[in-house]
Amino acid sequence: MKAFYAEEQKRHDPKAFLSSGAAQPNPEKPERVERLLAGAKSAGCTIERPRNHGLGPVAAVHTPEYLDFLEHIYARWQRIEGASAEVIPNIHPIARSGSYPASAVGQAGYHMADTACPISGETWQSALWSAWSAVEAAEAVMAGAPAAYALCRPPGHHAFADVAGGFCFINNSAVAAQVLRKQAARVAILDVDLHHGNGTQGIFYARPDVLTVSLHADPVRFYPFFWGHADERGEGPGLGYNFNLPLPRKSADAAFLGALEVAFQRIRAFSPDALVVALGLDAFEGDPFGGLSVTTPGFSRIGEAIAKLGLPTVIVQEGGYLCDELGDNLTAFLTGFGGKAR
Ligand SMILES: [Zn+2]
Repeated sequence: MKAFYAEEQKRHDPKAFLSSGAAQPNPEKPERVERLLAGAKSAGCTIERPRNHGLGPVAAVHTPEYLDFLEHIYARWQRIEGASAEVIPNIHPIARSGSYPASAVGQAGYHMADTACPISGETWQSALWSAWSAVEAAEAVMAGAPAAYALCRPPGHHAFADVAGGFCFINNSAVAAQVLRKQAARVAILDVDLHHGNGTQGIFYARPDVLTVSLHADPVRFYPFFWGHADERGEGPGLGYNFNLPLPRKSADAAFLGALEVAFQRIRAFSPDALVVALGLDAFEGDPFGGLSVTTPGFSRIGEAIAKLGLPTVIVQEGGYLCDELGDNLTAFLTGFGGKAR
């Protein structure tokens, strides 16, 4: 299987992160890349650099206002006297009106859901190259590859059309799905990250051409709290095209694989022409977030089960944080999926 990754993706190096109000080192570290690259290579992947695809595929799922913010906010922030080194919001609209603030502080609150996505001078380029890896993987599948892997870092599934959040800036899975739509009439996105893919859900919530399905730790007591519940089913023409499967905390392999079968029923009934897997590896029992208890062999079985759908598949990296098994878990998933054979 081909894998796509560009060195620029490593430059984003967020420092801060507020967890239950306390300042902690940000877990979305560049070192994740080394572990994931090693994991992909062990599964037999060849690593290729994506091309520069310009803003088009990114602008297809994000608003121009938001992309302009991401590109320029760091330089604007530096002109504020006494401002932090990284862009971090300190005020948010409870509900949005039509108005849009002119100030950098106001816009940071408007476009950033939480404090987990600090923006530095390198963030924009890293996020763009991460998205271009997803574009390249989608194009490889459109050219006939049965599957391709995009080593997307920074990750993307918490990014809405105009909001960053949860370590995410550009929604790489959504970008890949939208690229696939050039050929595929219907695309399904299956998100197996520990956390609900709220940004992806938001981007496609009113659309019937992209089915969004997410398995995750129940948000009633877990990030992202305000999204990911079973009664969120889509709206307007998209009603019935969003499917959430919240799992009890510490659910292990059997429960996860059981929920996956339920997800597959919905995906088969949608009869998609292509699939995007939003592959978080943070459902692992040893992940620092500790929400679910999937094992390393469990990831292999998850990969194997998804491959049996028999769909052209773009695998997009989402979460999965530093622990000894991070690379092994990717190898397990890709090998289970058929990494060596394909
Ligand atoms: Zn996650």
